[in-house]
Amino acid sequence: MLKLKNVSKFYYNKGIIASGFTKINLELNIGEFVAITGESGSGKSTLLNVLSGLDSYEEGEMYINGTETSHYTEKEFEEYRRKYVANIFQNFNLINSYTVYQNVELVLLLNGYKKKDIKEKVLNMIDEVGLTKFKNTKVSKLSGGQKQRVAIARAMVKDTPIIVADEPTGNLDTESAKDVIEILKKVAKDKLVIIVTHNLEQIEEYATRIIKMHDGKIVQDTKIKEIQENIEPKPSIYKNMTLINKYRLGIRNTFNIIPKFILLFLVFFFITSAVFTEYTSFKLYEDISSETAMGYMGFYDHSENRILINKQDKTYFTDEDYEKIEKLSNIKNIKKDDLFIDTLFTALSEADSTSFNSMSISGQIKNINDFKGNLDIGRMPENDNEIVIIANKKHYYITDRLDELLNRKFELEELENNELTVVGIKYREEEKVDNYNFDMYVPDNLITNLRNLANKRMSKVKIFFNNKYQESNSYMYSNYLNVLPSKNVAKGKAVVSDNLRLTSGGNIINKDIGIIVDNIYYHEELNLKISNIYTKTNFKRLTGYSNYGLINNNIFINEEDYNLLYNKPAYQASVYVENMKEIDTTMNELENLGLHPKKVTDFGVNHWELNEQIIKIAKVIVTIIVVFVLFFISYFIIRIILKSRNIYFTTLRILGATSKNIKRILDIELFINSSLAFAGVLGFLGLVKADIIHFEYISKLTNYMGVLEYLVLYIVIAVMSRLISRRFSKKLFKKTVITTYNEEV
Ligand code: ADP
Ligand code: MG
Repeated sequence: MLKLKNVSKFYYNKGIIASGFTKINLELNIGEFVAITGESGSGKSTLLNVLSGLDSYEEGEMYINGTETSHYTEKEFEEYRRKYVANIFQNFNLINSYTVYQNVELVLLLNGYKKKDIKEKVLNMIDEVGLTKFKNTKVSKLSGGQKQRVAIARAMVKDTPIIVADEPTGNLDTESAKDVIEILKKVAKDKLVIIVTHNLEQIEEYATRIIKMHDGKIVQDTKIKEIQENIEPKPSIYKNMTLINKYRLGIRNTFNIIPKFILLFLVFFFITSAVFTEYTSFKLYEDISSETAMGYMGFYDHSENRILINKQDKTYFTDEDYEKIEKLSNIKNIKKDDLFIDTLFTALSEADSTSFNSMSISGQIKNINDFKGNLDIGRMPENDNEIVIIANKKHYYITDRLDELLNRKFELEELENNELTVVGIKYREEEKVDNYNFDMYVPDNLITNLRNLANKRMSKVKIFFNNKYQESNSYMYSNYLNVLPSKNVAKGKAVVSDNLRLTSGGNIINKDIGIIVDNIYYHEELNLKISNIYTKTNFKRLTGYSNYGLINNNIFINEEDYNLLYNKPAYQASVYVENMKEIDTTMNELENLGLHPKKVTDFGVNHWELNEQIIKIAKVIVTIIVVFVLFFISYFIIRIILKSRNIYFTTLRILGATSKNIKRILDIELFINSSLAFAGVLGFLGLVKADIIHFEYISKLTNYMGVLEYLVLYIVIAVMSRLISRRFSKKLFKKTVITTYNEEV
């Protein structure tokens, strides 16, 4: 049946080679009851493991029924174990969380038996080892002797021609040991039984052959009883494991260890809710920012009492609208030039020969008509070029350079030819002492120009030229195809950069150029004719601008045309409420006025300094990273949880389960658990939505999930759980059975 020819087994451990046994020659046949003895470390276990196909060997040849095995794959050994070998171990190697019945049943489930054929067989076997009373007891509650009898029952039910027992009585008292040997003898008929023991007397009565090992070699091999020769081995019959049995085990494993179930459930619950939150907050954010225009860089004023409003029909505000809003009870004030709140402007002192001598003040622009209180320095403006500012008392422009500040001419960076002089200063209130920005109170005409600019900043601009659309990035500081107003350009005409001619080739004078402005509130188009091409030399004459270096590659149009594009009444305003406790009531009242109110604090993260495109990309990247990080975190957590179950999967392998089946069983377990977690999240969201659990933000988030989204979320979770199970089993099957087993025991 089994034949070893010069077989050696080596262990490679961190560069050191140890030998398990060397050059063993041995032939074993059905009908033999072989006792192997020898001192500890002599190679007995190693020999049994190789004979059982649980471990590999390095040298020589092992024959199974005359077939060479040195080229056997793991799959072929699986089949050998399944058909031929049943193992019994010193430490029983049972599934502690299963009952006696379930432990014995396990082999039959793995071998494709149907439920109805299983029961009788299992109960008979349990009866045979005298444990009927305990059939529904968890194995962990049994004594050592009882456990070993369960192990024997399990080995017997497998009905293989070979039974291999490695010190099966090693952990038992004399009485139980005797029982166990007795039972083993009973089943030994027409089988090959190989048993390692220290206690020869116990077994002498039954053994047909005694083998003694020493230092990895067989030093004695005595046949003490005649056996019947040439009995054909009867391999155990098995079918492929049925799907039902896989599910039966998967379900059993899901719930059989409660703490493990809860831990896995929590991990999956966490993943599901994290993906949900990430996705819906992303949607919420997108939704909000598509409803309301922000300043170029997001919101500067994050006061919790600020509510942004626009009209539900997206038309502009009229005086009548403002009046209605002012009549509401909880309104502290309305900011009509809403877009100014969130844009910081910079005014630079006129160019100076020594650059570090120059000055710049930046901060919010406000209308001089809204100025309240008394100045600390200087006077109120008397003409259109004069402004007053609010400044931090400790700013060194105030402490050290006050004289200069008051006497220099400034120019708002975005508007050329607007000379400004600071004529009055008011100190910032004490509580805002860490704010080093300057509030600039400017006259009406400047406000108009700046409002145009603010509208421009919230718009997308496209240029239609030469039958092509080109995106003009008209945001601040960008040079490319920026549209600018000029007094020197005639109405209906455009003066364009020489570069435009170079890129299109040919004459472009008198050609059409279209400018299309789009934002969430309005759409405007202008069709112009190119009247001139500017170059560095004629730039100043054609456009009236002086700084060619900063603004080349642009399109200059008549101021009136420019106003058509951008001089619009306000479409958006901000109201500040008096009493925060009443803010939700105020929100409702605003809604009833046909407005669309949004608290600024609902807009999520502030992205001061970033532009919207970058934020969108960043958000997508963050989402992807979150999913990946989640996957790996959960993989590691689940691996730790499952590692404690290595012994379980190894036991399945020893019992002859194929790697495919084990993978499947694990898949099912994780799938059930993740599905339950998904259902848990759904249940929780349902309670929030029904307002049984009060959670305003989450309730809001649920609006962004439809059936399709939930389906996709479910698929994401299911795929994740499957990937995790795949990775885990891949690791598990990298090593031989006995290596994993030894690592665990
Ligand atoms: P026995 O079962 O007779 O006590 P073993 O078969 O367990 O002996 O061990 C035989 C020899 O192989 C011993 O020298 C032991 O140190 C060595 N050995 C066993 N398992 C390993 C292993 N996993 N790694 C390295 N050496 C091992
Ligand atoms: Mg041993």
